[in-house]
Amino acid sequence: MTEPSQTSMPTLPSTEGLTVEQMRMLVDALPGLTWMANADGSIHWFNRRVHEYTGATLAEIRGWGWQKIQDPATLPQLMERWSECIRTGTPFEMECPIRGADGVYRPFLTRANPVRDDSGRVIQWIGTNTDISSQKKTEEALRVSEARFREAFECAPIGIVQCDREGRFLRVNPTYCEMTGFTEAELLGRHFEEITHPQDRAESRELNRRIVENRGWRQPIEKRYVKKDGRVVWVIVSGAAVLDQRGQVQHYVVIAQDITYRKMMENALKETIERCDLISRATNDVLWDWNLRDDSMWWGEGVSPQFGLRESTLKSWSDRVHPDDRLRVERGVAAALQSGLPKWEDEYRFRREDGSYATVRDRGFVVRDEQGQAVRVVGAMHDITEQKEAEMRLLEAQDELQRNAVRLESAVAERTARLQELVNELGTFSYSISHDLRAPLRAIHGFAELLREDVGAQLPDIDRSHLDRIIRAAERMDALIRDVLEYSRITRAELTLEKVDVAEVVRHVIDAHEQFHGSRADIQVIKPIPTVHASRLALTQYLSNLLGNAVKFVSPGTTPKVRVRGENAGHRVRIWVEDNGIGIAPESRDKIWGMLERLNPAYEGTGVGLSIVRKAVERMGGSVGVESTVGEGSQFWIELPKSE
Ligand code: ADP
Repeated sequence: MTEPSQTSMPTLPSTEGLTVEQMRMLVDALPGLTWMANADGSIHWFNRRVHEYTGATLAEIRGWGWQKIQDPATLPQLMERWSECIRTGTPFEMECPIRGADGVYRPFLTRANPVRDDSGRVIQWIGTNTDISSQKKTEEALRVSEARFREAFECAPIGIVQCDREGRFLRVNPTYCEMTGFTEAELLGRHFEEITHPQDRAESRELNRRIVENRGWRQPIEKRYVKKDGRVVWVIVSGAAVLDQRGQVQHYVVIAQDITYRKMMENALKETIERCDLISRATNDVLWDWNLRDDSMWWGEGVSPQFGLRESTLKSWSDRVHPDDRLRVERGVAAALQSGLPKWEDEYRFRREDGSYATVRDRGFVVRDEQGQAVRVVGAMHDITEQKEAEMRLLEAQDELQRNAVRLESAVAERTARLQELVNELGTFSYSISHDLRAPLRAIHGFAELLREDVGAQLPDIDRSHLDRIIRAAERMDALIRDVLEYSRITRAELTLEKVDVAEVVRHVIDAHEQFHGSRADIQVIKPIPTVHASRLALTQYLSNLLGNAVKFVSPGTTPKVRVRGENAGHRVRIWVEDNGIGIAPESRDKIWGMLERLNPAYEGTGVGLSIVRKAVERMGGSVGVESTVGEGSQFWIELPKSE
């Protein structure tokens, strides 16, 4: 291959001081491609570098052959502009790829300047092609890096801003906008202080000063922004200054991360810790927290006032448990930990600092990991010493009371027995007295009657009247003694309780007493009357009394009307004896059941009958009562156990 510079000798303009040969050597030595074209644009010379790069000879590119080494893609545009420059004589400049000897097109900056003669006419063109591959590569690398940075800036899940030296926003990324609630347009040009919480402004201003003076950003700081909607957002921010070539701070970049949630959690945690601390101080319980992983124990503040212990003296909890309780307590704890139970509870004696023992009730909740392994036990110890002592005192008092009660009971039983003995003796005594009284009384009565029969007619009226009064008094006294004897008998006699048909007893009583017969009284028995569990004899006795009273206590000239009826009253039977008599005033209704009580002396009687009724009924486990309207009648009732 012939060297281009050897194949043709260009007509170079002479330059002062340089020979043409020197000029040619100089142009050949140039690193760029250099060429010369005729006024019409056809090439007539190029330097050695053109040949080296393209592998083409002058013959191949001479004239318009150079078009073959141009990229076909840009050739039309090149031709258009080259033709325009030739027509107008203006310098040409364009980036166009040129094919190398290896067939690869590389970017070149092509420049051509016209050479004019003295008359200013373009006589030829001198052109250069400068390889701009590396420049292009640098530009491309820069573009890629910028794109990457933009991407990172736009998509970073962290807020990034660029501020000028004063602290005004130059650029903000979407995350920052989202974090503060402002749009990019609203933020750009604003000062960071405008969105900084008033309480954090001073610190932020100081940081801005540090960074502008290029003194560095000490450490990330936590601060608050006030969002557009007024809410507060906590962020952690850090930044760095961007310097110009002279080392001056041009602007600075700040990154901000939203830590509101973390702050919230921190506050919640702080509150919980404070609460726990306050509870531990407020409660009388001693709180504790046993970490099983490292066997460490935390004690609440109560441990000091309660047991006089300090953290330092609390090395081992179990050492403080009373030796007699220790094994049981330790086994209980171990069993709770192994069994998977959620809690443990026990009562034991715990040694205070002064060596005395407190009785405590201790409860712990077992915290387990995901495998169910116990990792922690949190609990509270409650001092129940006083309670235990009070319980003990109470038990002792109860024992003492019990012993006293037993003593009292036996004393009462003894007294009662003695009293009973006395009553019996008294009963026997009064019975025999009453009984013995009857004999002389009968003698008085008998002899008085004899006297009246024998000499009554001869006696003066006054003496006869005295004799009559002696006889009546003796009769009354006899009746009284009879009733008292009856009362005495009924209180002492053994009562045989049996199932008794009340209606039948009433019938029997009516039959046995003349005053209940015929027109003297109208007695009605309303059946059925439930059967009762009672003494037939006693029942006969007091039904006679009640019926006797019912027909006796009527106004003169009134025919007594009596009604006997019965009704169920739970487990008892209530038997009513109702009359149309004179009635009983309310204030006297309790009195009439007393011994020898008589409301109406005009009526015959001893005042003992109702006492006998009440006594007998009560002995059979029953009760008595009366309802009455004065002038209209009375309703007496007795209640006796029902015979099932
Ligand atoms: P006695 O009938 O012998 O007087 P009781 O003990 O039977 O004694 O009665 C006490 C008193 O109760 C009677 O004296 C009478 O005043 C009053 N009494 C009893 N039954 C009736 C009755 N059915 N109606 C009015 N008063 C009565």
